[in-house]
Amino acid sequence: MEINQLLKKGVDLIKDREYSNPVLEATLLLAELLNVDKIYIYTHGRDKVIEPIVDKFLELMKKRASGYPFQYLINKKEFMGLDFYIEEGVLIPRSDTEILVEYVLEYIDNKYKDKPVNILDLGIGSGAIALSIAYYKRNAIVYGVDIYDTPLKVSRINKERFKLSNINLFKGDLFQGICGLNRKFHIITSNPPYIPKKDITTLQKEVKDHEPKEALDGGEDGLKFYKRIIHESKNYLMKNGLLIFEIGYDQGKQVANMMMNENFKNVQILQDLQGLDRVVLGINGKGVGIDNDFN
Ligand code: GLN
Repeated sequence: MEINQLLKKGVDLIKDREYSNPVLEATLLLAELLNVDKIYIYTHGRDKVIEPIVDKFLELMKKRASGYPFQYLINKKEFMGLDFYIEEGVLIPRSDTEILVEYVLEYIDNKYKDKPVNILDLGIGSGAIALSIAYYKRNAIVYGVDIYDTPLKVSRINKERFKLSNINLFKGDLFQGICGLNRKFHIITSNPPYIPKKDITTLQKEVKDHEPKEALDGGEDGLKFYKRIIHESKNYLMKNGLLIFEIGYDQGKQVANMMMNENFKNVQILQDLQGLDRVVLGINGKGVGIDNDFN
């Protein structure tokens, strides 16, 4: 079968799927299976595709049509210009999260230009936040923690993929993962699970049926992890260190208040490209050590 005909079949299979971009998805999947880039697909419509690849392509498009997330099919998601390997068991990186990473990169440049800076990311998932900071800031020494094995495995694969040596990964329940290190951090980042438990069933099929519940479920009010992290962070964050979270669109005020109540200063809420609250950050007013103490 020719590339064009096969693409058309693929698009027909998934065109009724909500939240999908059928032409792009079919093109990218075929490019992946043929090991070429998408421009090749556009410019070689008359090329013949061998039978086993035709079969594989149609099989995967059917899986996609059933609501399976596209990014798990191709085991890839681009984030901050980097191609992350992903698989079931880690949340698919969202472009909204780039807001948090961009803020941290700029903050590092402003405050710690070319100086060593210790950063802790809690709940690494695919490593999107931790690894992109480590990739773009070689003066950063990044520590990543996750309680589950799959995120640690996937983050290690990505660490190899991007050839990073300035990141260390640990297994544990939030701070418990690094408490043995006896280390203080200049910056703590986290995109914890934040969906209120009862809202999970209302999410799109791709998310609720295939993405890890453990990465979404933030307890009854969705705020469970913020409470713990804000409270416990004071033992690990340097005085004047930065704590920065991704949040759900309607959690900005609550998380900001929680931080102010725990002596954080300069608390700010940042919006995403849609104008929705997406990030809350603040500076530790109490804490241990001082922020230019590089131990
Ligand atoms: N942004 C994700 C979603 O809306 C949730 C991620 C999270 O809970 N940290 O599906």
